[in-house]
Amino acid sequence: MQYSEIMVRYGELSTKGKNRKSFIDRLGSNVRKVLHDLPEVKVHANRDRLHVSLNGADSDDVVARLKLVFGIQNFSPSVQVERTFEATAETAKQMVKEQLAGSKTFKINTRRSDHNFEMDTNEMNTRLGGVILDTFPELTVDVHHPDLIIRVEIRANGIFLSSETIDGAGGLPVGTGGKGMLMLSGGIDSPVAGYLGMKRGVSMEMVHFFSPPYTSEQALAKAEELTGKLARYSGTIKFLQVPFTEIQETVKEKVPEGYLMTVQRRMMLRLTAALALKRHGLAIFNGESLGQVASQTMESMLAINDVTTLPILRPVVSLDKTEIIKIAEDIDTYDLSILPFEDCCTIFAPPSPKTKPNLERTRLYESRLDVEGLMQKALDGVKITDVHAGQEFLNEEADAFAELL
Ligand code: ATP
Ligand code: MG
Repeated sequence: MQYSEIMVRYGELSTKGKNRKSFIDRLGSNVRKVLHDLPEVKVHANRDRLHVSLNGADSDDVVARLKLVFGIQNFSPSVQVERTFEATAETAKQMVKEQLAGSKTFKINTRRSDHNFEMDTNEMNTRLGGVILDTFPELTVDVHHPDLIIRVEIRANGIFLSSETIDGAGGLPVGTGGKGMLMLSGGIDSPVAGYLGMKRGVSMEMVHFFSPPYTSEQALAKAEELTGKLARYSGTIKFLQVPFTEIQETVKEKVPEGYLMTVQRRMMLRLTAALALKRHGLAIFNGESLGQVASQTMESMLAINDVTTLPILRPVVSLDKTEIIKIAEDIDTYDLSILPFEDCCTIFAPPSPKTKPNLERTRLYESRLDVEGLMQKALDGVKITDVHAGQEFLNEEADAFAELL
């Protein structure tokens, strides 16, 4: 079927009262962004629906892209016909024919936003239903649980027919929730945390700590490529790489082994908070899940959290690893995350970190460091790049290398 438009139904934003307009505007611009390379496509965001006019563009391609946009409840590819009963009936017959396989019952569902049209909704339902019954004797009408629904929308500029309702990504349009800083490692959990934050409308910047020469170019490329995966849900993402070698070396030299990780994490968090302040971030997101590893006990969170008053949001805090993996697979980050390029934490991880660090001791050990000086040097070395949707950074050599390991 050659569709003429995709009719998009808003998600949760319809309940947001006063903010409604800004939600709709943002969704409209997010949809335009994901379709920007299709100049023939036009997007109109109205009060209760968003219409994507295809003007000849491939509907499968557009559907695949819309599925990733947060703030969409569902959508229907539709065909526009002229405002006559005959044209409507012709297209309805064609639609039923294409969707017929396995269906026994159907229903016509008409909405009329243009009250000047000669037929009302009941009349359209009855007459069109009659035509379908005559054409397809194997079908009967079932208004409660039909196998097939033909939706008819009578609008001023034409009549629109659709038969499919495709689930959208749900959530809220990215950008309506303000900016968050995601602490992105190369692991499984933090990309999932980033995805979940974006789903609630937050536009994310990635903060990644790397420690050359202890960590490889590939570890960095992996984090950038993960960012490219997440950018499919939000459009271009800022990637902030923070040099962490000197801090890790100094911490290792001056802090007792059991507290290495706690102090390292405090430094990471301080740096992320400093970047948030500079760049108007309202919260920090990370991929911590309670009880998963030593640094993710509540005692540990208390000792690490101590360095900032910014909210630290942990979208995967109460998910099991298997649940996190399931999401990672769905958003296509899992295969990248399990590539064996060690990040800075793995390499400097002590064999037996304290699972219940004491806050006072943590502060005491940390006072042996020139915290301000170390932070300033790391901040001076921050490099910021734009990562686009689907952008790749790992080369084939890296893939071959990973296979050898
Ligand atoms: P992940 O799978 O996200 O790496 P993890 O289970 O391996 O998580 P940790 O290594 O303890 O857990 O890290 C906890 C969180 O700290 C990560 O989810 C991430 O948000 C942050 N983090 C760890 N390493 C880095 C890094 N190199 N750069 C930025 N953030 C990091
Ligand atoms: Mg990790």
